[in-house]
Amino acid sequence: MTDSEIKDEGNLEPTLPFSPRVFSEHLLEWYKLAGRELPWRQTRDPYLIWLSEIMLQQTTVAAVIGYYRRFLMRFPRLTILASAPLEEVIDLWAGLGYYARARNLHATAQELVENRGGEFPQAVDELMMLPGIGRSTAGAIAALAFDQSAPILDGNVRRILCRVFALDELPRSGSADKKLWKWAESLTPQHRTHDYTQAIMDLGALICTPKSPRCDQCPVESLCLARSRNLVDMLPMKTPRKKIPTRHQLALLLVNRERCLIQRRPPNGLLGGLWEFPGFETTQEEPFAAIRQHCAGRRSISEVRLLGHARHTYSHFHLEVDFYRVDLVPYDGIAEGTEQWLPLVDLEQLPLHGAHKKLLPLIGA
Ligand code: SF4
Repeated sequence: MTDSEIKDEGNLEPTLPFSPRVFSEHLLEWYKLAGRELPWRQTRDPYLIWLSEIMLQQTTVAAVIGYYRRFLMRFPRLTILASAPLEEVIDLWAGLGYYARARNLHATAQELVENRGGEFPQAVDELMMLPGIGRSTAGAIAALAFDQSAPILDGNVRRILCRVFALDELPRSGSADKKLWKWAESLTPQHRTHDYTQAIMDLGALICTPKSPRCDQCPVESLCLARSRNLVDMLPMKTPRKKIPTRHQLALLLVNRERCLIQRRPPNGLLGGLWEFPGFETTQEEPFAAIRQHCAGRRSISEVRLLGHARHTYSHFHLEVDFYRVDLVPYDGIAEGTEQWLPLVDLEQLPLHGAHKKLLPLIGA
């Protein structure tokens, strides 16, 4: 087998170095014995499958299981999710991260109920028109709920195919992406797509893992070019890390009669709908003056002290937070807009965004 057989320079339709039928048969045999039992696997209900697929984006199965069960207890049907307030959906999502997914779930539920009679479309291109559903998620829903021969290319499958075909390109490049989709399409069988899709997901989760893959237990080892060429540790090729900026923020624990002020972020945009401590970004070098200026005219301060620091990385920036406790001269505090005065002891229950959640242990300092 030569590189030219699988690379097809200048041609983005790569050929296969083995029979797709052999690949899927090996995989399905293995799956019968080793496939995982997961709470969303005993159903063909598109609502349950969609919910699990959205939760599993960028998140591990272990982290998702508890959320999935709690979500279904509160929102057992699409219509119930569609009629719930967005804030409630976000509160139940707290801790799972990537909160745009919660907003998209809610928007999709409303779209389906209002415009499609509460039914999921079956075609991949129609599924892709719904908020938060990309081609791979659409493929998974079509295959798992409707047994259609639709390929998926999530992170696990991307990694498997990069290794099986020994792809020597950055896996997120445009040309690699086209090849990977072509391979995914070619390998996906016409029948038993439901099982095949779960099998390839399980292969990525259990055998062809990012680190230390278990090649000696792999059902497609005999077909894998990375294995035969001793390239497993080098593939997929690593995308160089992007440099992202660092932002600095002062966050305030404003305390008034054993209650502190918290506020909910607007529903759309970054970290939409999550709770946070009041705060502001500043380049001012004198934080105490900045805090007094921030409170001026609204609240009288009796004492300010630094509680500590936290750093959190979001996808596009690092956030460094200096956290100050600001004791106010007691007054009948009125919360404005999305603000709320909350007993200090209740803070643990609150769905704060990641950076501010890291501040909680500092409160007792
Ligand atoms: S042989 Fe190894 S690298 Fe190749 S698909 Fe199997 S686990 Fe992954």
